[in-house]
Amino acid sequence: METLHIIGGGMAGSEAAWQAAEAGVPVVLHEMRPHVGTFAHRTGDFAEMVCSNSFRSDDHERNAVGLLHWEMRAAGGLIMQMAEQHRLPAGGALAVDRDAFSGAVTAALRAHPLISFSEQEVTELPSTGHWIVATGPLTSGSLAESIRAATGAESLAFFDAIAPIVYADTIDMDVAWRQSRYDKGETEEEQKAYINCPMNREQYEAFIDALLAAEKTEFHEGETAGYFDGCLPIEVMAERGRETLRHGPMKPVGLTNSHKPEEKAYAVVQLRRDNALGTLYNIVGFQTKMKYGAQIAVFKMIPGLEQASFARLGGIHRNTFINSPTLLDTQMRMKSRPNIRFAGQITGVEGYVESASMGLLAGRMAAAEIKGGALRPPGIETAMGSLVNHITGGAEAKTFQPMNVNFGLFPPIDAKGGRRGRKDRYKAYTDRAKESFTQWLADHS
Ligand SMILES: Cc1cc2nc3c(=O)[nH]c(=O)nc-3n(C[C@H](O)[C@H](O)[C@H](O)COP(=O)(O)OP(=O)(O)OC[C@H]3O[C@@H](n4cnc5c(N)ncnc54)[C@H](O)[C@@H]3O)c2cc1C
Repeated sequence: METLHIIGGGMAGSEAAWQAAEAGVPVVLHEMRPHVGTFAHRTGDFAEMVCSNSFRSDDHERNAVGLLHWEMRAAGGLIMQMAEQHRLPAGGALAVDRDAFSGAVTAALRAHPLISFSEQEVTELPSTGHWIVATGPLTSGSLAESIRAATGAESLAFFDAIAPIVYADTIDMDVAWRQSRYDKGETEEEQKAYINCPMNREQYEAFIDALLAAEKTEFHEGETAGYFDGCLPIEVMAERGRETLRHGPMKPVGLTNSHKPEEKAYAVVQLRRDNALGTLYNIVGFQTKMKYGAQIAVFKMIPGLEQASFARLGGIHRNTFINSPTLLDTQMRMKSRPNIRFAGQITGVEGYVESASMGLLAGRMAAAEIKGGALRPPGIETAMGSLVNHITGGAEAKTFQPMNVNFGLFPPIDAKGGRRGRKDRYKAYTDRAKESFTQWLADHS
């Protein structure tokens, strides 16, 4: 049987190797550590947690991350098995003893008879054989250059610039209105592509004061090189002058408030659709390094967003990722070089759990292909399926930025019936997902 090569023994690569080997496919796992390091990793172990020791919420009934845990457990995921074994008390979160956890993942992989290891940096995208690239947010420079040459410069980013994302159904449309600037666009859908939130002068001044006073996070040491390329945080724009935002992302021109056409807004915050389903909207140009608590407080000052729920908060990080919606097919293969799959954070998912889950899927897909078959992705109503759908087509390619798993990626439930309580709605999402995921596993066992 042909061998599967996996580059990167992080969250995604470790899980991919385990899944493929468990399916009976021989694997070579290529990991450059400890010979070549990154600024964030400390050890030579597989699946090292580079920062927090938490896999976030373990509530599989009402939380999308917890549901992803559930699906990975159901699929025999190595990362979840080892997390369970080295779990620490952490309320509803799945936190672990980080060294014991990655030590156990390393031991399990090293003990597997079908997995062998290469302790070298891979410096070029291979042209033949079956490969998964799972080199993560800190992909080494030479390999990144090779990926850039294959994808085009505009399709590989070295920093993310994440604007906060709001659940569309939590925006107050009695205050906000839909309109593209100057009603641009051929169709009505395009002319109404944006949601606009108006501010008067007093609201704008208070907003700028809050932005300037808000607590910010710092870059990790070694993270900053090359960051100011066109992704200035809003608070930095505000520091450059109180009017800067009003002449930048908050400019009020070309827009008429449909609720109060006679009132000219002093500033306007625009939100743009973030997924094909239309359930998520990002706040345009609002990438930020404010702390999460501060973001919620400041963004809820925006008229129309007082009751908003956030699917993801903003951030700017050192983060190597490709424009998956344009580059990858639904099998996570590079369209232009189908012998190469991508998995993990480099595909534009964000977080340990999300990265491991994309490794799980890529490992299974590659194994199925090597064995002469094909594995269809799980349904979009599952956590894993909604994530892979998002990165391979559901997301807007032009504004693609890394994404956490969240219920906004799922097809809406209860669209016609009355508004259920949010908790009941989430339970309905997870019940539907579990049924679908169980069926998917049974279909491919
Ligand atoms: C500073 C920092 C802090 C973070 N904090 C958190 C957090 O608290 N919580 C969270 O959920 N997520 C966090 N993340 C995101 C986190 O990196 C990912 O969630 C997760 O580790 C990504 O998994 P991965 O497998 O895609 O990449 P990684 O886990 O980084 O694994 C990639 C592996 O590839 C190896 N590699 C790279 N290039 C090559 C090469 N050319 N040849 C061979 N091997 C190579 C690396 O050594 C590494 O072992 C953080 C990221 C960074 C950079």
